[in-house]
Amino acid sequence: MKILVQKFGGTSVENAEKMRRAAKRAIEAAKKGFGVVIVASARGQQTDVLVADAYELNPNPPKREMDQLLSTGEIQSVSLLAMALDSMGYKAISFTGAQIRMLTDSVHTKARIKSIDAERIHKQLNEGKIVVVAGFQGIDENENITTLGRGGSDTTAVALAAALGAKECEIYTDVDGVYTSDPRIFKKAVKLDQISYDEMLEMASLGAGVMHPRAVEFGKKYDVTIHVRSSSEQVDGTLIIHEVPQMEGLLVSGATIQKDLAKIGLLGIENVPGNAAKVFAHLAKHKVVVNDIIQTEVNPDKANLSFMINVSDLESAKQAIEEIKNEVNFENIFIREDIAEVSVVGVGMRTHYGVAEKMFGALADAKVNIDSITTSEIRISCAVDKDQAEKALEAVCMAFELDRPAKLRNKNS
Ligand code: ADP
Ligand code: ASP
Ligand code: MG
Repeated sequence: MKILVQKFGGTSVENAEKMRRAAKRAIEAAKKGFGVVIVASARGQQTDVLVADAYELNPNPPKREMDQLLSTGEIQSVSLLAMALDSMGYKAISFTGAQIRMLTDSVHTKARIKSIDAERIHKQLNEGKIVVVAGFQGIDENENITTLGRGGSDTTAVALAAALGAKECEIYTDVDGVYTSDPRIFKKAVKLDQISYDEMLEMASLGAGVMHPRAVEFGKKYDVTIHVRSSSEQVDGTLIIHEVPQMEGLLVSGATIQKDLAKIGLLGIENVPGNAAKVFAHLAKHKVVVNDIIQTEVNPDKANLSFMINVSDLESAKQAIEEIKNEVNFENIFIREDIAEVSVVGVGMRTHYGVAEKMFGALADAKVNIDSITTSEIRISCAVDKDQAEKALEAVCMAFELDRPAKLRNKNS
């Protein structure tokens, strides 16, 4: 039996009407002969509501309890969807992450999937049922409920597709595909027909919230085509695949903005072997994900070390640094939360020059000051003041003509 995994995000299951629409999509696929597995997110803003409930009672909620609480949002969705399917005359069964042994590590609130027991799902599919699985949640080896990080239902879906041997995973959402930039912020963004896993992974990691980065990693690793599409309109969306034929001379495929960042700087840190290793080992011990590390030598004895983290990790990072401060001997620490990052992404950068110049020029023309710059083979990121970030994104998008379909752009855009 050919298997299709269909994932419905929060807005796509937010009320009874949308649930019925999602159920109809699954039935259409079942009628075509697919074994259908639905993965659902919590309804509407339910996860945000639960987070707010937690913080009302405790400013520092234990992460295990947070996961236990947040997992309930998805469980509501899947049982309701199974009821909707039943009312439409289709046999369906819903499962929590634990029930299909979605085994993860024990890093609460950002766990990583280790294995999935596909047997229970196969058995139900073979009995002719549509299987509805709760996204975003798993279970660790001690039976504690874990969650995969905000937006993690995408990862449940693609990981399930891989485990079940499905060739494609459909991601139904409130946009009709992946755009050159977030269409809610850059209104003139255009939809991409296709994007490579590498570019999508980079964009997702840099703030394109339309896909969870780990989902793209799974897709690439296990060869699952990801189809991002609209849950309300019957139109083709964007395919995330291995190789997209490159338009000659096209440098940049998309631009992103990340606002939930904080920057930490350790000034005048002792310039001796092992200090950076100590700082980052300690941050890792506290499960803090670090990006954009910059170290510069001030004089032979002192260096400045700065890095970016997600603002949700700020408390853990502060604690890690407090514990290590007497060992690494820095003179001053600064923490900025008023910072954002604007990035451009494109595999074309591997072989072409001029991207940096164009990006910095666009920001200069828009009178946006660049705080720091980081690059990889296929991206350039500039940290800017948060209140200038949207203006910066717009300027960069216009400079690279991300308001126009690729074939209409000037060469070297
Ligand atoms: P869901 O609840 O369905 O998972 P999300 O809110 O997680 O939906 O993701 C969809 C949103 O992602 C869109 O509404 C859009 O604002 C945002 N987004 C950010 N970057 C992009 C992009 N490059 N292309 C499309 N959407 C994007
Ligand atoms: N409900 C979770 C969230 O809001 C997971 C998801 O939607 O993918 O982050
Ligand atoms: Mg999402």
